[in-house]
Amino acid sequence: MNAMVLNKIGAPLEWTELAERQPGAGEIRVKVAACGVCRTDLHVVDGELPNPRTPIIPGHEIVGRIDALGTGVEGLSIGERVGIPWLGHTCGVCPYCLGHQENLCDRPIFTGFTRDGGFASATIADARFAFPLGEAGSDVALAPLLCAGLIGWRSLVIAGPGKKLGLYGFGAAAHILAQVARWQGRSVFAFTRPGDASTQAFARSLGAVWAGGSDEMPPEPLDAAIIFATVGALVPLALQAVRKGGRVVCAGIHMSDIPSFPYRLLWEERQIVSVANLTRQDGLDFLRLAPEIGIVTQTTSYPLTQANQALADLRAGRFEGAAVLVP
Ligand SMILES: [Zn+2]
Ligand SMILES: [Zn+2]
Repeated sequence: MNAMVLNKIGAPLEWTELAERQPGAGEIRVKVAACGVCRTDLHVVDGELPNPRTPIIPGHEIVGRIDALGTGVEGLSIGERVGIPWLGHTCGVCPYCLGHQENLCDRPIFTGFTRDGGFASATIADARFAFPLGEAGSDVALAPLLCAGLIGWRSLVIAGPGKKLGLYGFGAAAHILAQVARWQGRSVFAFTRPGDASTQAFARSLGAVWAGGSDEMPPEPLDAAIIFATVGALVPLALQAVRKGGRVVCAGIHMSDIPSFPYRLLWEERQIVSVANLTRQDGLDFLRLAPEIGIVTQTTSYPLTQANQALADLRAGRFEGAAVLVP
């Protein structure tokens, strides 16, 4: 198999030939058909997450077909198309696992961070954490659903049922979530980098009722706001934009420091919460709904060998929607 390997934090990924691996007990081997590029991959490469591991193969929005089954795998078959998300394994015995909060597991394994991921021609996964994807939709179109879609979905649920929803940072996650929110009958207010007219136009094309710079206030108070951008300074801005009792959800795994702000911005029962990882139930719920909603992902495909270019383009905001690597 081939992979783009991170050998050293901050260094470019390196094209590497690796021996074909065999799935262990309870594992599957998947021939990768497409793997989305997520902002978290940038955090992995940049060493912004705690306890980084190298060498590692990044990538946790994997779509592929099973080509080998380990012993004891049930309910999956050779040739079946599956999706492999960020949550790669949980311990099953900690208080969080036992309390239906496996996203907060004390001893988790994360795909593309603490176990090898999908920037490769093949990968090994824990069978219990793979989602059957069926045959509808192309591999490339489905890949961004595996993290941008799933984490977006969890964030939306945590944001609550309010009709007026602000999305700060209109990238891969928000472009999917805007479609979900509109389908649910909500109004989406999209916030981009100040002056980013093309992303604002992209947001309007996906049904946003308003799009503007993150330094602007929306035309009416929001019920909730979700921050996908990694900029801590957006937290007080979003608090200013939500109504009394409104909620601000921080959806990223990493954010720059939040500047201090006057207490009055939080007063009147406004809330700030974060979203961490996903549960398998989030995945099942969202992937069941996605075809019904008719989500159309906007993707830019790169050959696997161009993973460094894809990461650089993501960092610089050179495309709308999501980047996807194809082996
Ligand atoms: Zn656990
Ligand atoms: Zn991700």
